[in-house]
Amino acid sequence: MAKYIIVGGVAAGAAFAAKMRRLDERAEMVLFEKGPHVSYANCGLPYHVGGVIEKEESLLLHTPASLKARMNVDVQVNTEVLSINRANKSVRVKNLISGEEKDYRYDKLMLAPGGTAIRPDIPGSGLPEVFIIKDVVDTVNIKKFADEKKRGHVTVVGGGFIGLEMAENFHAHGFEVCVLEASEQVLPPFDYEMAAIVHNHMRDKGIDLRLGSKLKAIVKSTSGLELQLDKGLLHTDFVLMSIGVRPLTQLAVAAGLDIGATGGIKTNQYMQTSDPDIYAAGDAVEVTSFVTGRPQLVPLAGIANKQARAAAFHIAGRARKVYPVQGTAVVKVFDLTAAVTGSNEKTLKNNNIAYDKVYLHPLNHAGYYPGASQLSLKLLFSRDNGCILGAQVIGREGADKRIDVLSTAMFANLTIHDLGFLELAYAPPYSATRDPVNFAGDVAVEVVKNAYRQFFWDDCDMLDENKVFLVDARSPGEYKKGTIGKAVNIPLPEIRARLGEFPRDKDIYIFCLSGLRSYVSARILSQEGFTVYNLSGGYTSWEIADRDRKARAD
Ligand code: FAD
Repeated sequence: MAKYIIVGGVAAGAAFAAKMRRLDERAEMVLFEKGPHVSYANCGLPYHVGGVIEKEESLLLHTPASLKARMNVDVQVNTEVLSINRANKSVRVKNLISGEEKDYRYDKLMLAPGGTAIRPDIPGSGLPEVFIIKDVVDTVNIKKFADEKKRGHVTVVGGGFIGLEMAENFHAHGFEVCVLEASEQVLPPFDYEMAAIVHNHMRDKGIDLRLGSKLKAIVKSTSGLELQLDKGLLHTDFVLMSIGVRPLTQLAVAAGLDIGATGGIKTNQYMQTSDPDIYAAGDAVEVTSFVTGRPQLVPLAGIANKQARAAAFHIAGRARKVYPVQGTAVVKVFDLTAAVTGSNEKTLKNNNIAYDKVYLHPLNHAGYYPGASQLSLKLLFSRDNGCILGAQVIGREGADKRIDVLSTAMFANLTIHDLGFLELAYAPPYSATRDPVNFAGDVAVEVVKNAYRQFFWDDCDMLDENKVFLVDARSPGEYKKGTIGKAVNIPLPEIRARLGEFPRDKDIYIFCLSGLRSYVSARILSQEGFTVYNLSGGYTSWEIADRDRKARAD
């Protein structure tokens, strides 16, 4: 009878146990978890703080007893695996309540220890009013503190997915919330101009968003905490540190297993480490990027689950390898959903991967059906072969569905040339006859076929009036409310009659609200012999970044 030992009992560890049991009914399985809980919903933790998930018990998907009953797994909580003896194929474990230490033999070992939430090495980061959120115990502590405090000011350090979820939930709880972010944008998997949509929305919701702001020290004051920033001071009642996770690799390092350049445990596609009897999965391992082919860390629950299952299949003799990772992710930030797949522009540039891009701001469903709202979509693709390199979609409704379609298309190696033909479900409350994904593909194809030239939101500041004639093709009413620089208003319906106003010695740079009217205008002008550039994403893309930059300058 084979003996499997599992280190860590949450996303990857529990998934491995479940799959392994279904594949091998006879095996002996022991799972060690150093915390008091197993198989809990870490992704739901922020929503317990905000009261959306009311009961702590709702976060606990299983108990040691239920895992024993259902999967016949011997689950030992409050028990830490201290070391691995590869020669003897055994682990040394310590019961953290009794202090007792014991050795357990294994045939196959699964390492699923996850990551550790990073506490920055700055004065005061260990104060009791400074929290992290990694597990149920952290969450209960934060909730208890917040419930007792009732009202006040909280600072979230870090604008990643979890930081923003926590900011929203503290706000729902009734706190004034400041988000401190050292870089110039929140949500690192997105590019700045897409993250700026989220910046604007967070400010609209009353969040004090401080970008490019570094925390240097935390000092206890008579009225709470004083945060020393590189730019001034901030008074707050408590702090949530959410600056990322680091793979937990001490056991693997001490056992001499290979560690990758990213600091995660190295595995093959079957999740075997450099020791074929030791597997690893989840936040502790490094993965290969689908787009760049390079190693990276992508701490997401779905990836942990797939890796754990792949390991179980391999042990059971049914090889099912994991694929490179696209990093598809989604987050709710107040009324917005922000979703992403593949690489962003920053990553493509850093890896010298040639790309082009389009921005669109279509409605999520037919405009005549009540409740339509705007989606903002950025598609990154190769001009050479049309392959999809990445996508980012943000909006009130329908962003998750569009990113899932684009992620699937990418996974299946479909190209921008296929997107326009995807047969996507349509009825007025859900989409349009041409879904935003079809639309994005068609626009990208036009770009690679050189049907028109594009310019982008960040080119607008650098246009040389001596060489460029900037035209706003929107209606006079829209123009009056604000335009870009010194653009001349020539609305689309007037273009044919006003052709004489377009200088022959300049390039025409044209825009409308989202790019469609200006595209039609560009077609007319090009056929009249002008060189025309269309603003991708139109005034909407420019205005998102302009609003963010103005808010930051205030
Ligand atoms: P974990 O789930 O962290 O489990 C590792 C376990 O191993 C821990 O319980 C730890 O105590 C135990 N352990 C470590 N060392 C030892 C040892 N030596 N002995 C015994 N036990 C040990 N991902 C998403 O995809 N979507 C989301 O919406 C999302 N939201 C999140 C929200 C929060 C607040 C957090 C914290 C994470 C979120 N994640 C989300 C990330 C996701 O939870 C992780 O990617 C996933 O849990 C990783 O699984 P894992 O098994 O590798 O690690």
